[in-house]
Amino acid sequence: MNAAEESLRDAAPSIFWLDDPARPPARPPLEGDIEADLVVVGGGFTGLWTALLAREAEPGREVVLLEGDRIASGASGRNGGFVAASLTHGVANGAARFPAELGRLEQLGSENLAAIGDAVRRHGIDASWEETGELAVATRPHEVPGLAGHAEALRRHGRDVVELGRDELQAEIASPTYLGGVWDRDGFALANPARLAWGLAAASERAGVRLHEQTPVTGVVRDGAGVVVSTPAGRVRARRCILATAAFPPLVRPIGRLVVPVYDYVLMTEPLSPAQRDAIGWRRRQGVGDSGNQFHYYRLTADDRILWGGYDAVYHFGGGVGPHHDQRPQTHAVLARNFLATFPQLEGIRFTHRWGGPIDTCSRFCVTFGTALDGRLAYAVGFTGLGVGASRFGARGALDLVDGRDTELTRLELVRSRPLPFPPEPLRFIGITLTRRALAREDRTGRRGLWLRALDRVGMGFDS
Ligand SMILES: Cc1cc2nc3c(=O)[nH]c(=O)nc-3n(C[C@H](O)[C@H](O)[C@H](O)COP(=O)(O)OP(=O)(O)OC[C@H]3O[C@@H](n4cnc5c(N)ncnc54)[C@H](O)[C@@H]3O)c2cc1C
Repeated sequence: MNAAEESLRDAAPSIFWLDDPARPPARPPLEGDIEADLVVVGGGFTGLWTALLAREAEPGREVVLLEGDRIASGASGRNGGFVAASLTHGVANGAARFPAELGRLEQLGSENLAAIGDAVRRHGIDASWEETGELAVATRPHEVPGLAGHAEALRRHGRDVVELGRDELQAEIASPTYLGGVWDRDGFALANPARLAWGLAAASERAGVRLHEQTPVTGVVRDGAGVVVSTPAGRVRARRCILATAAFPPLVRPIGRLVVPVYDYVLMTEPLSPAQRDAIGWRRRQGVGDSGNQFHYYRLTADDRILWGGYDAVYHFGGGVGPHHDQRPQTHAVLARNFLATFPQLEGIRFTHRWGGPIDTCSRFCVTFGTALDGRLAYAVGFTGLGVGASRFGARGALDLVDGRDTELTRLELVRSRPLPFPPEPLRFIGITLTRRALAREDRTGRRGLWLRALDRVGMGFDS
């Protein structure tokens, strides 16, 4: 058995964040017919923020949230816990897609991140919130020249940025793979995502939201001036509905064209010993992301484990979501190998958990809004792997849209425009497979090939 296989030998096929004695018991499912002003479908960050903000803005409004499984059982309880200020999946993607309003989007994103931190403190949420920022590191020579431009773009939008050469970076975190880096000191916080979601659920209940778990919504249709939402054992008649269902099977047709489920995989180590901790440094506990198309993200937890995820972004033919995709031994093996190449001084460490989760990818990599049923329903989906922070903005946009308000948010190009749809199968699978191969080739060679340049020209992409 090689070192990577050995490190994975005892890793449980379960989600570290949800494997927590603090996980609250499930709220009872909906039984019978009820009425509400607003029904929210989905109990991840987007749905939870929607319900909480709706009640905070209008305490008299009857708000019901229906979650098909458990609170945070989707992407929200499985992610890296990087809470980004960016609403556009990074400043480079924002500059390419929303050049005219990127300045304002960056300000709104910083305000959004600050508001999440305030909510964590105000509601007393024990989510190991750490304002450490994020280090983007280059590990291949052709990635190094891009770092200066990245730093400059962040600075232009008011971020507190430090550029680190190879030696300075080694002094922060010791890895033989690092060639240089950019530390975005105020554009990211880190959190325990499941605890954050559970805390938001508890805060919503205190604010008067009615939560039902294990209540899958099977359909939403018009009903007079409102909608009726069906579930196996009951219905909700409501004036308005917001879908926060991310990568899960779409309840309205446009979501199925705009969003595809992409699986991303994660490993968690055992807690590091003091000697292991000394061997890597990492005293300032930044979140780290490497720079390729196929990137890793990694961070320390409150008890000094390392969460290590990313690299492969797997699309399954037909776009299925479910527990049968949660484990992918070949991807976990690649992750373990890449971990040990990054931190060879940690050889002998064990992973305790391995899991995967569905990302709601859209072709422009950031939240996408829409309405259906003559404006009675709105949705915010398509966060593409960077929705922990942006979900709060998504909730605000969806609320403004479903209430028919003309606000700064509803006037944004980001809110009004749609990404290019994905083609139907089998073209969808073929296109994504070709694109993944082309992205891997660019990572190896540093050259953006014909296929990717053609997609760039039409504004279509694939990311996680
Ligand atoms: C492995 C992984 C790592 C990631 N790392 C990061 C990161 O570090 N930082 C970051 O910003 N983002 C990250 N992301 C993305 C981030 O987790 C998501 O963008 C974010 O959680 C989206 O929240 P959401 O509420 O929109 O979706 P979800 O959390 O997926 O919630 C959707 C919910 O809707 C429910 N639902 C769906 N259909 C129905 C129905 N018909 N009836 C009732 N309920 C329904 C589901 O059960 C689910 O709970 C990562 C994602 C994954 C999978």
